[in-house]
Amino acid sequence: MSKRNLVAGNWKMNGSLASNQALVQDLLAGIGQPGCDVAVCPPAVYVPQVQVLLAGSNAIELGAQDVSQHENGAFTGDVSATMLKDFGVRYAIVGHSERRQHQGETDVHVAIKVKRALAAGITPIVCVGETLREREEGMTEFIVKRQMSAVIHLNGHCISEIVVAYEPVWAIGTGQTASPEQAQSVHAVLRAQLRAATDHADRVRILYGGSMNAGNAAELLAQPDIDGGLIGGAALKAPDFLKIVAAAS
Ligand code: PEP
Repeated sequence: MSKRNLVAGNWKMNGSLASNQALVQDLLAGIGQPGCDVAVCPPAVYVPQVQVLLAGSNAIELGAQDVSQHENGAFTGDVSATMLKDFGVRYAIVGHSERRQHQGETDVHVAIKVKRALAAGITPIVCVGETLREREEGMTEFIVKRQMSAVIHLNGHCISEIVVAYEPVWAIGTGQTASPEQAQSVHAVLRAQLRAATDHADRVRILYGGSMNAGNAAELLAQPDIDGGLIGGAALKAPDFLKIVAAAS
């Protein structure tokens, strides 16, 4: 079944008022009417700024990089899904490997965050992926299925509402990309797992992330179970990001 690809830019902890404005202006100037869905995910503090910059455009939607696992209350520093929704956030990255690694997020935290996002009407982009060591030990399938199963278990029939991002940790920010065949084989595993959980697995978009760039996007996106990209480094340069959008359109 053919579905509209999604290309989402994860700006990570980069940017400033001035550079965000320049980047969004360049993206809007070059994007036209893309044949895929497009989102940018600035740091939380810049979400209101980017919401204003994107106002009036239907070509680029707004995303966040994380969402609290809590609804509200005494959780200093957290930003809730409903707060993000107040600022027009449409997508939220959840369970990025950098948060699993540096903030100690577990599969259960990630599953709860997915639930919070869905309850607020935000589409979670759920990241899964193995480390280099796990791949070398032949554990890739086990790891991504374990990460996904926590999300499926807690979110039940809503699972068809999520976006998944397969992001091999060894490919993130390293310039080392999974080959199209390596990526497709993991995407097929994830698709099969989703099929066992929902009749609507074919409408779940499974993005690839990990050093996707203007040069390698087309061959990755040509794979049958790759439905878009989650882009880090290349999302900070408008010409590169726009080339990936064109490849996904
Ligand atoms: C990411 O952090 O989600 C990512 C894919 O980063 P990069 O494209 O820089 O590897």
